[in-house]
Amino acid sequence: MKTLRLSALDAETPFIAAELIRRGELVAIPTETVYGLGANGLDETAVAKIFEAKGRPQDNPLILHICGSEQMALFCHDIPEIAYTLAETFWPGPLTMVLPARDCVPRRTTGGLSTVAVRCPDNAVTREIIRLAGVPIAAPSANLSGKPSTTTAEHVLHDHDGKIAAVVDGGACRVGVESTIVDLTEDRPRLLRPGGITPEQLTAVLGDLVIDKAVTAQIDKDAVVKAPGMKYRHYAPAEPVTIVSGSREKAAAYIRRHFTPGDRVLCFEEELPLYAGCNPLAYGREADVNTLSAGLFSALRELDDPKIHQVYARCPVGGGVAYAVQNRLKKAAAFHIVDAEAEV
Ligand code: AMP
Ligand code: MG
Repeated sequence: MKTLRLSALDAETPFIAAELIRRGELVAIPTETVYGLGANGLDETAVAKIFEAKGRPQDNPLILHICGSEQMALFCHDIPEIAYTLAETFWPGPLTMVLPARDCVPRRTTGGLSTVAVRCPDNAVTREIIRLAGVPIAAPSANLSGKPSTTTAEHVLHDHDGKIAAVVDGGACRVGVESTIVDLTEDRPRLLRPGGITPEQLTAVLGDLVIDKAVTAQIDKDAVVKAPGMKYRHYAPAEPVTIVSGSREKAAAYIRRHFTPGDRVLCFEEELPLYAGCNPLAYGREADVNTLSAGLFSALRELDDPKIHQVYARCPVGGGVAYAVQNRLKKAAAFHIVDAEAEV
């Protein structure tokens, strides 16, 4: 199959992409978070193609992308008032809500769950495609399963050229990490995945937020969890990644002591001079965490190379968007973290 590369700037693009979605084809769509691998979320056969193209486990659910909060009730039931308040506050934007699913949503889309994740992305062209298609677009990140997510059309083509009908090129994604996911189906709202909408922003609206343990620790592969996707290996380049925490100087001393040829260092721009001779790659500025979230997946993809033995990575500290960056980097490192301050 020849994969069409459609420009988001071209007025024809939403019509072509929407028609492909209606026909049950796969179309990669730009969003403010990452590129999604989209299909008609109500068509089981179309959705099955997403799992096949990505090599994604069947029990790992997808997010339904809708073009406004008025569509929530079409696919969800027993929607609490707070869901509408969150939508009003953060949509269009990087917030996904988990709600009870209506029967029209195939279990293939929800990974077999009775709940469905919904989100309204902050990309006008993508919302127009959803509107014209007349169906919600189910989409996970457009990477191959387990690999770092896709934040440019080039990343999507690298993983799926010739296997999908089209990619809509909307340039590099602004946020760069996937949406924040909050589960509203239990007594208390629960954060399942941190993202561009921060825990602090959510708590300000919700007054309460439980952080799921999958956010902060490795989940056993046999564990029964709320969202099966939380237990799979994620975002990982080919080689092992070790996060080195601690001050700039102590971390650099630790890494330089352990560095051997064939290793790489993933660091902040401010730290590049400390790693001369260690083949460093900067993913953004520590002083501006948005550059770190925007640059993380491109950098992890560049480091996805079997010739590299080991990556030493520096991770931002603190809350806000840094919390989401920490989560992705810790998962890429399979929670392998050394504290340079504790090393003698
Ligand atoms: P991706 O963004 O590629 O990881 O795919 C969507 C993610 O949304 C999944 O990995 C799940 O973590 C999450 N998700 C989707 N649907 C649900 C659901 N019904 N309940 C909980 N989490 C979900
Ligand atoms: Mg993903």
